[in-house]
Amino acid sequence: MLVVMQEGASEESVQRVIDRLVTMGFTVHRSTGVAHTILGGVGPIDDFDPAGFEVLEGVQECHRIVSAYKLANRRFRPQGTVIEAGSVRIGGPEMIVMAGPCSVESEEQIEISAEQVARAGAKVIRGGAFKPRSSPYSFQGHGEAGLKMLRAAADRNGLLVVSEVMDRSQIPLLCEYADILQVGARNMQNFNLLRELGTVNKPVLLKRGIAATIEELLLSAEYIMSGGNHRILLCERGIRTFETATRNTMDISAIPVLQQLTHLPVVADPSHGVGKRQLVGAMARASVAAGADALIVEVHHDPDHALSDGAQSLYPEQFGDLMKQLRGIAAAVGRSIA
Ligand code: PEP
Ligand code: MN
Repeated sequence: MLVVMQEGASEESVQRVIDRLVTMGFTVHRSTGVAHTILGGVGPIDDFDPAGFEVLEGVQECHRIVSAYKLANRRFRPQGTVIEAGSVRIGGPEMIVMAGPCSVESEEQIEISAEQVARAGAKVIRGGAFKPRSSPYSFQGHGEAGLKMLRAAADRNGLLVVSEVMDRSQIPLLCEYADILQVGARNMQNFNLLRELGTVNKPVLLKRGIAATIEELLLSAEYIMSGGNHRILLCERGIRTFETATRNTMDISAIPVLQQLTHLPVVADPSHGVGKRQLVGAMARASVAAGADALIVEVHHDPDHALSDGAQSLYPEQFGDLMKQLRGIAAAVGRSIA
């Protein structure tokens, strides 16, 4: 349930409402907006009367949230959420671009990548050290050694790090080396992993599962949030449909739909969305036009020899040109690129 306090409601009246909710068995999450304090109550009680709260001092209105996800619901924080990761803010007026190779392959590769994506304007470098591959015979990532290389290259170039965590057991390692923990499409419904990430003090980039509905994505976010970690970035990365012309079908409409349904920032991944280098730019431009808060793009200095996802990795020059175009599109929709 949701209690919207009146503008300028006193701290005592807010506290009285919180106490009342707690007594009724709710866990209370407080959100302070520009004008109003909003109290979100999550609890087992369904049959209470919102009107009983509306008579309390300082209360403007009270609603039952009927959707299955509550903490992720836009109504909980109508003004939207800005997520801070290091010096970067995602969800505000400035868009953020994350870029880098699919996998961390070598010290040299990741150093070149970091230097190139930083020069083009990316703020975060991506690179998997634990890779979820369809075949067990494909390159599986360098694990901790890869994370070390990624961290060092990022630090030398003033970038943050986003990298995938595939299993609960890898969380401490990822927390040591990465600024943002990525949950891949294949793990979007690994509920044990999600629950554990609820206890972590790092933002999570949660990718949409290959056959997941938007509501399922939001419920997966709710798993993490209900554990106490509210710093979630939702990522559209294409879904599997009957279409075979592209690797996945990039669901651009998911961007504005998510922004209606949730206050969490929305990230678009055009690389996995289409799987073909020549189509990535168009989907990146469309994502910015559709209102994405951030992009994550695969870039490789030598895609022909990449150990994973070479076909969808941009050449560094292409990425540089794309960044210039994206700045123009961002300006046209009232944003800028940090
Ligand atoms: C990746 O980012 O390289 C990746 C494996 O992504 P996804 O989980 O979206 O397939
Ligand atoms: Mn990839």
